[in-house]
Amino acid sequence: MDIDANLIEKMVKQVLHEIDAGKPHAEPTQSESKNEEKNGEYGIFNTMEEAIDACDIAQKQYLFCSMADRQKYVQTLRDVVLKKENLELISRLAVEETGMGNYPHKLIKNRLAAEKSPGIEDLSTEALSGDDGLTLVEYCPFGVIGAITPATNPTETVICNSIGMLAAGNSIVFSPHPRAKDVTLKLVTMINKALEEAGAPKNLIVTVMEPSIENTNVMMKHPKVRMLVATGGPGIVKLVMSTGKKAIGAGAGNPPVVVDETADIKKAAIDIVNGCSFDNNLPCIAEKEVIAVDQITDELIRNMKENGAYQITDPAVIQKLADLVRKEGGGPKTSFVGKSALYILDKIGIQAGPEVKVIIMETAKDHPFVMEELMMPILPIVRVQNVDEAIDLALIAERGNRHTAMMHSKNVDKLTKMAKLLQTTIFVKNAPSYAGIGVGGEGHTTFTIAGPTGEGLTSARSFCRKRRCVLSDAFHIRDFSNGL
Ligand code: NAD
Repeated sequence: MDIDANLIEKMVKQVLHEIDAGKPHAEPTQSESKNEEKNGEYGIFNTMEEAIDACDIAQKQYLFCSMADRQKYVQTLRDVVLKKENLELISRLAVEETGMGNYPHKLIKNRLAAEKSPGIEDLSTEALSGDDGLTLVEYCPFGVIGAITPATNPTETVICNSIGMLAAGNSIVFSPHPRAKDVTLKLVTMINKALEEAGAPKNLIVTVMEPSIENTNVMMKHPKVRMLVATGGPGIVKLVMSTGKKAIGAGAGNPPVVVDETADIKKAAIDIVNGCSFDNNLPCIAEKEVIAVDQITDELIRNMKENGAYQITDPAVIQKLADLVRKEGGGPKTSFVGKSALYILDKIGIQAGPEVKVIIMETAKDHPFVMEELMMPILPIVRVQNVDEAIDLALIAERGNRHTAMMHSKNVDKLTKMAKLLQTTIFVKNAPSYAGIGVGGEGHTTFTIAGPTGEGLTSARSFCRKRRCVLSDAFHIRDFSNGL
């Protein structure tokens, strides 16, 4: 007898269904039902796959929103973050959870990200007109963007990336650093709630309940994620660049600051202490080593000490400090990254006054404090004979990151020489490092400075595809050569 394969399959399904129907159904555990209840609420999902699927649907709905809608949603995002209680909450939680940075500076950074990250105004259309008609080049969305954010600027990066990416018409899957999980989830929830209330499609910004390296890897490989943006150290930047997808890499820096004999030394000292101590030296742009011309080094150090620097002169204490904050194989110990000068000094048995913001010491030019990105307010000073030597050493200390550098000088030729040679994404003259991200310097802000992939200080247009739209033989109105 011939048995039809479809019939067998139908019979098997029927039997399995009956067996299943007879089984008592297991009650979900308390934590399962809690997750079930929360899964997908305000963009927080149990799994990366669910998050990406929801984000993909949101992006397709978002395509039907107008530019006025985008503007409204970006403004909604700015407003919700800038609400006093929200700004204070995320700033406080970021410090508490990561154990890095300080509250007053987190407030400034979060406010800056919300106020000065460009929105839709960044997406200016290019138009070409001539005998053959009119061509438009518009900045268009990529689709779903996977954004990986650092522990050092966890909320600032989410705010800044969200504004630029939403303005550009994308939806976003965030992969936060696990050390900043709670504060990131809180922020994503806060933003989504406000966006939903403003009428935006649900799930424009999503993430997962348990951020992890594994989840980031799922996100990076997922076919629905069209672009990757990594803000972090060299490892993650290299990873996103090797995925075969369009990737923006915003990586590590080790910004040198050069001071020559023509500088306003007092101002230079104040600027350097303020830039270096900002958020306990966490920003990738912050001053990490000083290279000073011998003629003015003593005066510079004296002025730094009068403005919040504590100098260590004993080589044995400098060594003790290095042993304390560096790992055996090199690089900073995580437990000291983003800690205050007073906290670090206390650990080597030095009690200093509350005015102290930075620990300084003279070192050799190849000292690890000079050559490694420490991200804590320890600032080595290297004395050199002249400005050319200073610039040459700055080039070496910057380590080819081409990220950020500062110079205090009134010699235009030397300022130009240093800017040319170092080829950094940001070069600040006669100001603290943060002038380079729009604090006391012209220009917009960003917390994703894309040196390795070349976008520079990212903004909405960095997260776009440029598309050309051509109309032949019309809308060119300057002459009648093609008839009326
Ligand atoms: P990090 O590289 O440890 O982590 C950054 C992000 O990448 C985190 O979300 C982390 O979970 C993820 N990640 C790291 N390795 C991964 C891997 N192997 N697989 C999957 N995901 C991985 O950096 P951090 O300590 O969070 O941040 C500090 C670093 O970031 C510094 O080097 C700093 O200079 C740099 N940074 C650069 C910019 C910029 O705009 N260029 C801005 C902020 C921070």
